[in-house]
Amino acid sequence: MSTQTEPKLVTQIDFARAGQITPQMKKVAEREHRDPEYIRERVADGRIAIPANIVHIKKGMRAFGVGEGLSTKVNVNLGISGDKADAAEEWKKVKIAEDFGADAIMDLSNSGKTRQFRQQLIDETPLMVGTVPMYDAIGYMEKPLVKLTKDDLFEVVRAHAEDGVDFMTIHCGINKSVTKTFKETGRLMNIVSRGGSLLFGWMEVTGNENPFYEYFDELLEICHEYDVTISLGDSCRPGCLYDSNDATETAEMIELGKLCKRAWAAGVQVMVEGPGHMAIDEIAANMKLQKRLCHNAPFYVLGPLVTDIGVGYDHITAAIGGAISASSGADFLCYVTPAEHLCLPNAQDVLDGLMATKIAAHAADIAKKVPHARDMDDKMGQARRKLDWDAMWECALDPVTGKKRYEESPAATEGTCTMCGKMCAVRTVNKVFEGTTIDLGMED
Ligand code: SF4
Repeated sequence: MSTQTEPKLVTQIDFARAGQITPQMKKVAEREHRDPEYIRERVADGRIAIPANIVHIKKGMRAFGVGEGLSTKVNVNLGISGDKADAAEEWKKVKIAEDFGADAIMDLSNSGKTRQFRQQLIDETPLMVGTVPMYDAIGYMEKPLVKLTKDDLFEVVRAHAEDGVDFMTIHCGINKSVTKTFKETGRLMNIVSRGGSLLFGWMEVTGNENPFYEYFDELLEICHEYDVTISLGDSCRPGCLYDSNDATETAEMIELGKLCKRAWAAGVQVMVEGPGHMAIDEIAANMKLQKRLCHNAPFYVLGPLVTDIGVGYDHITAAIGGAISASSGADFLCYVTPAEHLCLPNAQDVLDGLMATKIAAHAADIAKKVPHARDMDDKMGQARRKLDWDAMWECALDPVTGKKRYEESPAATEGTCTMCGKMCAVRTVNKVFEGTTIDLGMED
């Protein structure tokens, strides 16, 4: 008789490898029109992540799958900043994210005591919740950056895990080897990731290795305990077109690929973060390289912004890149708002950024042939052919804005809109097929 105790199954990847389908895998399968076994297989080998902290599951979170063969997910960033600490405004953004179809909310609060907002968010939202513990470390520990110790940083990670955070961006890949490459090869925009810049500063001042890299196994233990998915941060994502796909970005990606394998071996789910700013013709190759180097781990991208000069309209520059990146293999898009590079977004910016990113994700899902992705588009075509405006609102990604615009400009001819009025092409052709009078030019 064996005296060995069976390892405790905690995370989605533990269960998947043991051949067990969890309730979360079943839910993902239902929502994605896939067989539960399809989901289990891919969770087992890391191609799909289901970021779902065991604490958040108990509070009623919905299960979302991120990865191969699934619909592209969309994240909304929000949170209190040092210059604008208005919790009520951030709650408005939470409501917009939930009402307009975001899959995840990242709480990027980085000033003062952030725990109350984070805990309330996890209590109340069924969406995936992500954080960046590095942003929170200075406020949480009440210490200047350079005085933070490895134990301080890990204490913050543990606090976020205990609170129920489903995925954490942790910049584990920026180690001494990557910073050497960065300093030797140079960049136009240096390091633009906030967490990456904090760690780079800490490493340079203390002379120490990145603690999240050096003590990665300890980090994995915390993540395993709560089933926190690690979203491996891309500290060296390009901040301008000039820096894209350079030696520094690629050096970090190679490190991230090695860390993916270590995380999976420890039963921890992983996603990998990506660019950034990137010209259209480079995006598909970057997605393929990431999938290759990171062993098909789900790819979570910010944009990419396809030009650097769309200031004030970067939800559009990012949506163009988002559609191309998702149709080329990215699995999860972080929204970008019109306020990008300018200021903390307001509620309208959040809505505009979310809708631009939702459209990009949906357009990519149609191209990727995600099951049933085009159903609503085909229904919209039918509704438009019948000039059935109520049916059109049911198909629209944002029915509120569509209906408001339509009703603000009432058409003189029934069924049409003020764009063409009586010359409505749909109405004219419908009349031809119905055999009814085409009444154009017959007003007298
Ligand atoms: S009036 Fe013109 S824009 Fe409006 S529904 Fe008819 S064809 Fe379309």
